[in-house]
Amino acid sequence: MSITSNITEIQNELHPIGVSLIAISKTKPVEEIMEAYAAGQRAFGENQVQELLAKHEEMPKDIEWHLVGHLQTNKVKYIAPFIHMIHSVDSLKVLMEINKHALKANRVIDCLLQVFIADEDTKFGLDHAELIELLRSEEFEGLKNVRIRGLMGIASNTENERIVKEEFYELKMLFDGIKATYFRKESSFDTLSMGMSSDYKLAIEQGSNMVRLGSTIFGKRIIKHYKNT
Ligand SMILES: *Cc1c(COP(=O)(O)O)cnc(C)c1O
Repeated sequence: MSITSNITEIQNELHPIGVSLIAISKTKPVEEIMEAYAAGQRAFGENQVQELLAKHEEMPKDIEWHLVGHLQTNKVKYIAPFIHMIHSVDSLKVLMEINKHALKANRVIDCLLQVFIADEDTKFGLDHAELIELLRSEEFEGLKNVRIRGLMGIASNTENERIVKEEFYELKMLFDGIKATYFRKESSFDTLSMGMSSDYKLAIEQGSNMVRLGSTIFGKRIIKHYKNT
């Protein structure tokens, strides 16, 4: 299977049901990402700021870049001028920093709040209490240059479908509850980013409308870190 046919096949599957595809290009070289671009894909995601910056520099400017990995506050300034969406907001502190640099860049940056749903303690994300606390905080009220578009979650890395399904179900319930409670009047709270290559079908069944696929498109990742050569 080629990248071109992978993109076409997945887009044919997702487009009719209104699910957005973010092609996760981490560790992949520009030539391979350009193959997906040539097939019509415009939304790409990276999990490291450094790598994202290098690729943004080198690649066509109509690409919509998504950050899906943990964001340190000291790196926000580099991506604020151009980032399309940040999926991995996991603290009020980082959200305030995004707001600050978005203001400087005269932009409003779309963000998702990352919620911790897996039964592993290695993953980033807000737990339910932290999420509510953030949304209720006075500081949050004052942020005018970030727009919360929805939630993101990563399910447990397990073969056990029942567990993964329950985690996605829980996140969808939380999404609906948060929307009804805190974003009732904001139609822009509309994005539930859940599902990766191994579990995106389950995620869609449970109500995801944005999936983040890497290996399904580009094949297995062999190298761990991209080098800008
Ligand atoms: C790497 C990554 C993906 C894509 O993973 P695949 O299993 O290759 O589809 C999705 N989301 C996040 C946050 C990632 O870091």
